[in-house]
Amino acid sequence: MSEDKTLTCKICDLEFVFTAPEQEFFAKKEFVQPNRCSECRAIKKARSQQREMFLSTCSKCGNPTALPFQPTGDRPVFCRNCFRPYWMAKFSGLNIAVQGATDNGNA
Ligand SMILES: [Zn+2]
Ligand SMILES: [Zn+2]
Repeated sequence: MSEDKTLTCKICDLEFVFTAPEQEFFAKKEFVQPNRCSECRAIKKARSQQREMFLSTCSKCGNPTALPFQPTGDRPVFCRNCFRPYWMAKFSGLNIAVQGATDNGNA
């Protein structure tokens, strides 16, 4: 059994954990050990997908947020922090009102 390893991201210099299951997955796929943290990997992936993002302002906290869809202006938008409780509830099967927090913004 492998153990979790702590690696340093070469992009942001932060330490991140390369977990044992990840190590096994990488070994199985014959991938080299990651040199970026998951955040920097996600950014790289997003860039490589060249997904169009729209800049907007969170209706709840007022922070700027990037959306994967064009905000229509007639419904609130949430940043990731404010949106999280909604989708957490959604995926845990709780039935709460999710006002304005649709998956893709296409009504
Ligand atoms: Zn990083
Ligand atoms: Zn917010």
